[in-house]
Amino acid sequence: MSANIALLYTGGTIGMAEDPTSKMLVPLDFEHLNTQIPELDKLNVSITVFQMWEPLDSSDVQPKHWLELAQKIAAEYDNYDGFVILHGTDTMAYTASALSFLFQNLSKPIVLTGSQLPIGVLRTDGKENLISAIEIAAATKEGSPMVPEVCIYFEYKLLRGNRSKKVSTEHFDAFKSPNYPALAEAGVHIQYKEQYISRDHFGTFGSRNQLSERVMGLKLFPGFDANIIRTLNDSNQYDALILQGFGAGNVGTSHALHKELERWTQSGKILAIGSQCVYGSIYLNAYASSANLADMGAVDTHDQTFESSICKMMVSLGNSATLSEARNKFAGNWAGEHSASTA
Ligand code: ASP
Repeated sequence: MSANIALLYTGGTIGMAEDPTSKMLVPLDFEHLNTQIPELDKLNVSITVFQMWEPLDSSDVQPKHWLELAQKIAAEYDNYDGFVILHGTDTMAYTASALSFLFQNLSKPIVLTGSQLPIGVLRTDGKENLISAIEIAAATKEGSPMVPEVCIYFEYKLLRGNRSKKVSTEHFDAFKSPNYPALAEAGVHIQYKEQYISRDHFGTFGSRNQLSERVMGLKLFPGFDANIIRTLNDSNQYDALILQGFGAGNVGTSHALHKELERWTQSGKILAIGSQCVYGSIYLNAYASSANLADMGAVDTHDQTFESSICKMMVSLGNSATLSEARNKFAGNWAGEHSASTA
């Protein structure tokens, strides 16, 4: 029996074409895309298309869109064997991360893909990406889905969504999962790396439908003005700050900065420390320039991507009664998004 796959179209370059007047790429309806891929009819898979909204450049995708996607998948969960989401590459890693946190006990594949060149361009990477993503969403092992995870398929690699990052505006090989191996590689055959695929969510599937946008992300740089944190403290507009420090989570020893960060955590708000390094993990207290952060109550983001940290914080805050509950939730490992075994 052929697999039933739901194809959720959100926009992105894959479905874009050049506007004749402005000469810029603009998103078009799924119909445009469909006429360019007659190959879809040849797949031994039954595909139902849902156009989620007016197609968007993914730089316009917002948290409300993540919730809409999650709700649509939850509503259709029992009707399909797997889901493929066509999405712009710019914020694909955020959407994949958010979905991985919005679902509980996911037991079906959700594969996001898109392309660097529009489907109508001769050298497009969109066809292979879409066809392989569908094949992966339909793949089974002993009757169960092969990859029951939220993942990104791009240029011959299947990556865990909440480990992924867009790293290139130029290469077809646009995504990396710097701190976790690929879940599959596509060559003549699709080789699944089963040891890296998480298949241990056996409870009842559920979907969270709340998140909070009271999250701020900042990147430190030499010359960073501690008054920025003072303004955040005074404004009371945010509940959590993801601060991308240097190296292993170092923020320097500036008294002014430490004072404002301490004010932040003492008022009960959440401070999470990430790194500007793409590879490797946070090690708080390895250097004097990260001393005090753990004592202040800062949370270590381990080897998690910035994209994952932002999304997990939004979902943690949206699904907690108190900030301290959200802090504890954020520190956990929900969907293999970091390598630390700590809760
Ligand atoms: N700006 C486009 C988007 O993210 C880029 C792409 O899809 O590759 O929607």
